[in-house]
Amino acid sequence: MIVNFYERYQPKAQLGFMEDALLADSLSTDGKYTDLLKEHFKQSHGMEDLLFTPSATSALELAVQLLGLTPGDEVLIPSFTFPSAANAVMKCGGTPVLCDVDLKTKNISLEDASSKITERTKAIIPTHYAGISCNMDQLMTLAEEHHLAVIEDAAQAVHSLYHDKPLGTIGDFGAYSFHHTKNFSCGEGGAFLCKDPSCMDQGEIIRDNGTNKAQFYKQKLSGYSWQCAGSNYMMSGACAALLYAQLLDYEVITAKRKGVSETYHEILTVSAQQLDGKVSLMEVPGYSTPNYHIYYINCKDFETREALRNGLLADGIDARTHFVPLHLSDFGRTMGYSAMDLPNCFSVYETLLRLPIHTEMSRTDCEMVTDFLVKRVREIK
Ligand SMILES: *Cc1c(COP(=O)(O)O)cnc(C)c1O
Repeated sequence: MIVNFYERYQPKAQLGFMEDALLADSLSTDGKYTDLLKEHFKQSHGMEDLLFTPSATSALELAVQLLGLTPGDEVLIPSFTFPSAANAVMKCGGTPVLCDVDLKTKNISLEDASSKITERTKAIIPTHYAGISCNMDQLMTLAEEHHLAVIEDAAQAVHSLYHDKPLGTIGDFGAYSFHHTKNFSCGEGGAFLCKDPSCMDQGEIIRDNGTNKAQFYKQKLSGYSWQCAGSNYMMSGACAALLYAQLLDYEVITAKRKGVSETYHEILTVSAQQLDGKVSLMEVPGYSTPNYHIYYINCKDFETREALRNGLLADGIDARTHFVPLHLSDFGRTMGYSAMDLPNCFSVYETLLRLPIHTEMSRTDCEMVTDFLVKRVREIK
């Protein structure tokens, strides 16, 4: 590859922090680096507390468990997303109800979601695709009208804003991912956020195999025991140290990604005539300040997308499609959905193409990507 799809940002501080975590902090969960991470989110997000987990998936499972679903309860989820939220709902005995997305943002269509609300609907789990916010005012109003809990799947949206509010902090619960492909990574990692601080104690219990060990460690109890169903959703001190090194540089990381995104946008806007209506550009709504997790283009149809993807691959540019919508997946089809039930998801699945974006890309790299893209567009009859 001439331009890789993704490369990890290597912060200067990481090896020192790792050594310190290994030698001084004995890799314990909720040690020194967890405290520093909590301080980071307090400063940047004004958050009193959050829990670090091994993944966004486990944070979503934790949040869904707190909803106390009973069999037959329904949860609205966009079909164009990763399976984590749907799996979490099914694990807790609920039924995921798959919704269409807006063509413009690729986020859950509130029109489709509201048409699917029944007396069994308990929650909605919106994804902020590409780190671009859902319209949270409209979403929260819909949720309030129907008494739905809101769990933000903010896996891609760490340090993205809706107006001036950090994503993940607006709904009742939020989930972040620090998976190695995300903007800030520690290999595998995540965080669980909740708006109501009184849920935090229960979250800590579920996260630690259903025990009140956290209370014991805080010397509020003389011992600990099993309180409820739970799991091991703890992040190791090694991951916390790696993640803290990344988050210390979050402004550098975001600025570099923003540079790539803006360079693409600027060049492709100037090249609009050559793109000849075969490709249109990503749009960011005015209420959203993204973290530039993804830069995608919309192709005219499936054939155009595949011609560009294969052409770019041959040129050494790793451009990629994204999610197979859940309702189109092998498993989704067994749940009774057919492809055209959610037409916008189908269209996004067929036509979206993600361009490389990471902190190690120079302006020349960006120009190489756009030059090849324009060349490949012009080859299409
Ligand atoms: C990456 C991702 C996840 C899963 O995150 P993990 O930390 O790997 O569990 C869930 N939802 C979305 C939208 C994602 O992009």
